[in-house]
Amino acid sequence: AKADIGNAQRTKEIIKKYGVRAKKGFGQNFLTDLNVLTGIVNAANISKNDNVIEIGPGLGALTEQLAKAAGEVVALEIDEDLLPILADVLSPYDNVKVINQDVLKANLPELIQKEFTDPTRPIKVVANLPYYITSPILMGLLNSSVHWDAICVMMQKEVAERLTAKVGTKEYGSLTLAIEYLMTARLAFGVSRHSFVPAPNVDSAIVVLETRQEQLAVQPFSRQKLFSFIKACFAHRRKNLWNNLKPVVGKDKERQAAVKEILSQLDIATTDRPETLNLEQFIRLANALHAQNL
Ligand code: SAM
Repeated sequence: AKADIGNAQRTKEIIKKYGVRAKKGFGQNFLTDLNVLTGIVNAANISKNDNVIEIGPGLGALTEQLAKAAGEVVALEIDEDLLPILADVLSPYDNVKVINQDVLKANLPELIQKEFTDPTRPIKVVANLPYYITSPILMGLLNSSVHWDAICVMMQKEVAERLTAKVGTKEYGSLTLAIEYLMTARLAFGVSRHSFVPAPNVDSAIVVLETRQEQLAVQPFSRQKLFSFIKACFAHRRKNLWNNLKPVVGKDKERQAAVKEILSQLDIATTDRPETLNLEQFIRLANALHAQNL
């Protein structure tokens, strides 16, 4: 029997046999560490009742471990050169479909209906993400209408720290809050750059996102406007909240006074830094400003 695809020697053989040249432009760094691969599958808590979407199967190392653990796997790969290789190395598994598809352009609800035998099963995303588009991919998943039972993804360590940051830290920002709005995030484990071929020049970490169980104490008047407001509040991280708000409020003295009044009612100081506000405070602030046409 052949060794698993993620076995370093086997990966080397596949690369040689097909003359694979990792494409930097597609963020291709292939995992060659079976402990990491099974660690990801365990962190995602995959069972035979799960449908799994994998983003970027690459040479199929993670796909294979997912095929062993999951009910069905649908893998979306942008690089069509990898499709014949994947068809070959994954041929022992009859519960895997590889589709030549840019995940950023995919209609995910439609794809799920079309590709899974039983689309009503729990659906999870598991991936070693292409790092150059981590945030757009995550935002695309969260903004889609799909109910994800879990999203378990590997990314650059620094981004993982931002996703899972606590209020008041320098990693905390609009990305943290965008995730927190819908999900709970936890850092599962870190992965050295030496677990990949070719080795990227950053270290990595696995983040597990799960649907939040507790409802938010307040709802925003508009989710989209809330997040453009939050982005504006973090536009200059070294400035305090008031100095970030000024360009939004404008020069009118009466408007400025009205906004300061709202801040004081919400117990927020003009000198507070944006990273000291929690999600609920941002929602209350955005709602109050909106209610007074500010
Ligand atoms: N899963 C493999 C592994 O762990 O060894 C490869 C991971 S590699 C970091 C990222 C993969 O995502 C590559 O195979 C790359 O071609 C693919 N990819 C890059 N951009 C993509 C996109 N927009 N849509 C789908 N796949 C993409």
